Amino acid sequence: MTVSLVGAGPGDPELITLRGLARVRSCEVLVYDRLVAPEIVAEAPIGSLRISRDGLGQEEVNALLVAHGRRNRPVVRLKGGDPFVFGRGGEEALALVDAGVPFEVVPGVSSLASVPASAGIPLTHRGLASAVTAFAAHDVDALDAAALARVPGTLVGFMGGAVVGRLAERLIEAGLPAATPAAVVARGTMEEEQVVVAPLGSLGAAAHGLPTPALVVIGDVVTLREALGALRRVAAA
Ligand code: SAH
Repeated sequence: MTVSLVGAGPGDPELITLRGLARVRSCEVLVYDRLVAPEIVAEAPIGSLRISRDGLGQEEVNALLVAHGRRNRPVVRLKGGDPFVFGRGGEEALALVDAGVPFEVVPGVSSLASVPASAGIPLTHRGLASAVTAFAAHDVDALDAAALARVPGTLVGFMGGAVVGRLAERLIEAGLPAATPAAVVARGTMEEEQVVVAPLGSLGAAAHGLPTPALVVIGDVVTLREALGALRRVAAA
């Protein structure tokens, strides 16, 4: 295998898979995202070429993977969470297919479930939510708010940290009650995890100033956080 698209997990460096870590430890070239824990990047062999993806366009990343992959060196493309969940892993995989470069995908622990879990919020719960809808929230004015307001179960908004207030406003306009339980989990699973819980109507104000990355969780499952409190990992104060 020349190129491995590896999910690094949501932030806590222990949440990479065994296979993912093995690939990092035996790579010659490592291309990594800003969100990846530095402890994992540090596992790449001494002498390996470590390239931060910061400041590179997607086309440049694709070209880099193809160029190093063609040389038949073990290349690891290390991405936050899972490579195929809002991670552009599909685009990179397609570029490798087009170039005829062999590759594999090593799944990662996505923030989708692990970040809410770290905050004491199950995504589904019998009687409360039997469906989950994940959506990209950053282009908040282009969202189909009516569809999101109608769908049953839990809503999970990615890349919405900077637009929480506007997102809430749009969902309420579209029919979600302002009293719907909601949370924003910032830097989930990391030492500096911060969780804000508030009804949708005041979520924007409550989450103001939280760091990124942040995940927005909306739905009745958020009420379980209090009951599960004793089981939660206690974040550093
Ligand atoms: N492939 C990644 C998602 C990449 S998109 C995955 O599977 O998790 C980046 C978005 O993911 C962020 O804007 C944020 O919404 C979410 N995210 C990733 N890591 C997070 C973390 N530790 N805490 C909170 N949100 C996180």
